[in-house]
Amino acid sequence: MLSNSSKNTHSPKPLPRTDTFTCVRCGLTVTTLAPDGNRRNHCPSCLHSRHVRDAAEGGPSACRGRMSPIAIAVLRTDDWMVIHRCTRCDELTSNPVSPDDNQLILMRMAVRPLAHPSFPLEAFGDL
Ligand SMILES: [Zn+2]
Ligand SMILES: [Zn+2]
Repeated sequence: MLSNSSKNTHSPKPLPRTDTFTCVRCGLTVTTLAPDGNRRNHCPSCLHSRHVRDAAEGGPSACRGRMSPIAIAVLRTDDWMVIHRCTRCDELTSNPVSPDDNQLILMRMAVRPLAHPSFPLEAFGDL
């Protein structure tokens, strides 16, 4: 009775998301899907990113500057976040760490404040 010509008769298999971007710093081709199933926005090798989202407004950003990883933040859930700063407009963003992110760079950022304290740590020796 119903002649639905636009009916989808074939059932396509769910395609894996194969979106990629090229790292602005090291040129690595990065898939936007991380091994843990989450989307990633930064290069797993050098952890650099590109400023394509406006962190304050939530929409796309026209800046497209290079975002350098500058620090690690730890959430209450013990998840690590990479803090990025845009080298063009100085906006700060935080992004989840992926399982295959470069752990040497992550650790280097995590210990940097302790390796370069802005006050003498000897003060804590008597605690
Ligand atoms: Zn890279
Ligand atoms: Zn920017």
